[in-house]
Amino acid sequence: MPADVPLGPALRQLRARGFSRVQISSKVHSFEGSLPCAKGKVPVLLNVRDWDFLTYPTVQLLERPAFLPKVLPHVSADGVLCLFAESSVVLDRFRPELAVAQCLDKATWLLDQMVESPAFYEAEFHGEFLVHWTNADTASGYGGLVGEHSKRASAMQWYDVGPVGEHRLFVSAQLDEVTRFCKAAGWPQPTKIPISGAMFTSDRYPACPAFGLPKTLSEAFAWLKAWDRRVYDDVQDHLLDRKLIKDGRRELLFGSPAGWFGIGFSLDPKVVGSFQRGRAYRHYLHAHAKDIAVERRSFQEAGSTHVHQRNLMRLDTKSLAGKKIALVGCGAIGGFLAAGLARLGAGTAGGVLRCYDGGQLEPDNLGRHWLGYESLFRNKAQAVAERAKAQFPFSRIEGVAQHLVPSVLPKADLIINATGEATFAEALNAHHVDGTRNTPALHLWVAGNGEAAQGLWVDASRGGCYRCLKLDAGEDFGKPRFPLLKVPPVRAFVGCHAFTPYSTTTPTVAAALACDFVMDWLDGEVSPRFRTRVHEHAQVFKVKNHDIERLKGCPACAR
Ligand SMILES: [Zn+2]
Repeated sequence: MPADVPLGPALRQLRARGFSRVQISSKVHSFEGSLPCAKGKVPVLLNVRDWDFLTYPTVQLLERPAFLPKVLPHVSADGVLCLFAESSVVLDRFRPELAVAQCLDKATWLLDQMVESPAFYEAEFHGEFLVHWTNADTASGYGGLVGEHSKRASAMQWYDVGPVGEHRLFVSAQLDEVTRFCKAAGWPQPTKIPISGAMFTSDRYPACPAFGLPKTLSEAFAWLKAWDRRVYDDVQDHLLDRKLIKDGRRELLFGSPAGWFGIGFSLDPKVVGSFQRGRAYRHYLHAHAKDIAVERRSFQEAGSTHVHQRNLMRLDTKSLAGKKIALVGCGAIGGFLAAGLARLGAGTAGGVLRCYDGGQLEPDNLGRHWLGYESLFRNKAQAVAERAKAQFPFSRIEGVAQHLVPSVLPKADLIINATGEATFAEALNAHHVDGTRNTPALHLWVAGNGEAAQGLWVDASRGGCYRCLKLDAGEDFGKPRFPLLKVPPVRAFVGCHAFTPYSTTTPTVAAALACDFVMDWLDGEVSPRFRTRVHEHAQVFKVKNHDIERLKGCPACAR
């Protein structure tokens, strides 16, 4: 109980609702009472484990009155009703009486909705299907991972994977995928499991069965038929396959909008060994379906398409799958950017992320580089590519150990100049606007001593180029067209070598800025094309994010 917040009001609130304290555990405050649902009272236990509400209070159903649906979304095997998705509400620790009232009201509302609104019940069940599949009533079997797959691939192989001493299933159509997955995870080689598995996919949400989740093959068949008749028919066809009828264990894997799940069942090897024909075998299954127990399994998708798309889907953005990206410069900006691009799916599905840099990683670089001591004195491009590839083994990421020659522009769908060097940017820009402007180029740099990260997108449209950022006439020649810095940057000199000190923050901001440009590009429209992200303490003039016009008389593009 919190020392600083009196619980009197909370206890009075509960008493007023007919709840009384019961001693169940010394760590949990439990209160017994009833929820006033529209169709009748529902006896429950309110459990408050944490008066800071980092763990939400739970409402546990003590009985299930007949008016409630048999399978309830949000209700675990032991009757605990999940009231709020994790971190979805903040219950006020200073007003516990309001918090407990909120919990009881939400529980009552949820149960009423499930009874009165079939649409609500369906929608909630869709969202919760996998949780149910895994946790409801009987204990379910083991789960696993599903690799890359196509809707046409029906023959999937089951593998035993995991760190030494642990076992997980990996279901994939390709041994190569499982092998690379295990290597990247630092696990031993996968072991093939002699299971005849098959995969079926449906675009429909799994139906919620009136009789509860299937426990026998008979219930599983009925449930499949109700969910998706086509899947049911495909399963029936699959069971005719003569090659598989001698197997004692069968596994069926299902992909749906609700996620991946499976059904497994075992048969007496002596019985199945006697079958010669698929029809006799399937007939046997149907005749004994009531006595054949099924295990429910849950799976997580781990294939690279899912991994790179998963966080983008809701933003309606495509991933970088299939795109050819040339990343020029693997220094402070380019290193973090390679990491970002790899996560956005660069190098997958026939695409490639090609990194260019002729320099090697020095101790001086480590304080603001994505790489660390493990890559010291290695070529930056190769080391960056190697590390990104180790993290994402299904992506094609290559390191080219030389500085890009601006006059020989790389063949790519997008060129990103992350060198942050003005002289190089000038040269690259000149050749770019002259030649392959159809391929967009993104220039990135850190302004001054890290006051801001800036980026300019240049493509075949009418907008300005990199050189258009610099005035070109009269007294103002060479001055910035959009002044940013109020004070000139500090340069540091070591012998005849000079560098501009800035910390690791601005290169990471520049890399994030670049990823935002890239996502806009994938969405089909990059605007604003000139962007500035300023450090909060920076002494700078305000620079508007906008689509810059061509500069009159620009020596690079105004020809
Ligand atoms: Zn220009």
